Amino acid sequence: MKIGIPRALTYHNYYPFWYGFFNKLGIEVVLSDKTTKQIVSKGSSKVVPETCLPVKIYVGHVLNLLDKGIDKIYCPSIQSIDNKIYNCSKIRGLPDLIRNVVKRDFTLIEPTLDKSDDANNFYIYLQESVKPFGITDKKLIKEASKVGWACINNYNLMRQSGVEHNKALSNAIKGRVVLDINEQEYPIHVAVVSHGYNLYDDHSTMKALQKLEKLEVKAHTAEELSIDQMKNGIKLLDTELYWANEHEMTGAAGHYLNRANIDGVISITAFGCGPDSLMIDRITRKARVLKKPLLNLTIDEHTGEAGFVTRLEAFTDMLFRKKRASILQSLNEQIPEPQVIQKEDNDRVSR
Ligand code: SF4
Repeated sequence: MKIGIPRALTYHNYYPFWYGFFNKLGIEVVLSDKTTKQIVSKGSSKVVPETCLPVKIYVGHVLNLLDKGIDKIYCPSIQSIDNKIYNCSKIRGLPDLIRNVVKRDFTLIEPTLDKSDDANNFYIYLQESVKPFGITDKKLIKEASKVGWACINNYNLMRQSGVEHNKALSNAIKGRVVLDINEQEYPIHVAVVSHGYNLYDDHSTMKALQKLEKLEVKAHTAEELSIDQMKNGIKLLDTELYWANEHEMTGAAGHYLNRANIDGVISITAFGCGPDSLMIDRITRKARVLKKPLLNLTIDEHTGEAGFVTRLEAFTDMLFRKKRASILQSLNEQIPEPQVIQKEDNDRVSR
């Protein structure tokens, strides 16, 4: 039994859970390859140009799995993650989109998860996820869900403790918690605010986090924060939670904008994303009020690496100069003013 999971969009939120859950039930999880230019262009060719980059990438990953011979593709419709906290229409309608644009012979496994609907609870969603494999034993499904929760909880624990994303992911799915934390000290700290499906797709955001590391800049992300910290961050931006993935944008931005140890904030959003354009507007206004440097980067399939890197370098260079200037200023404030001594012969000397 094999299930194909496209390495895109919701994969970046739920993969440790899905891996633990399916694996416990004896279903082998097959991932699509990492995003390449070819995956992006194949996906883009199937949808209208205005579609946001993450959805184009998702379509490309479904095609990649089909090319590998996988005929059961997991594509849940995640409507809401809490009462009246909805995903954007593109994530909610993902199975409909795939069914309409990928005209090939395969089984789309498309359970719905809607926390705003009392009739649709989490276990019904899980039962629908494995029904195509003939698995209907509710006790077994519940047991498997515990393994899924253990995997995702381990992942969250490691990320909140500062473990790097890929290391946390690979240990979490092996059922391990390894707190291998980078203790290095950095002169500059920035917050990078983006959705996981942008930030951890090396092709989309061109390894932005690794590039910052090379520039000796410590990047902080939403995964280091607890849900309560992100909820408070949303309040600090004088707004209310509406979108399901708002925690990782406005929540993280609100938190980091108010931190003195964060020298600047970088937001990375996809061109054509409605929810993000609203969120970025609020983040930009608050950054202006708090006088916190902010760099907004927008990505699409035509974004060139050279321009992207130049903007990152220019921003971090400005942060280094700003920090140097503020250190010099505080040092100058500590040096006492030269005193003027009146000598007997009325000569003035200063020391
Ligand atoms: S939130 Fe924005 S980027 Fe994400 S799928 Fe929806 S439209 Fe696309």
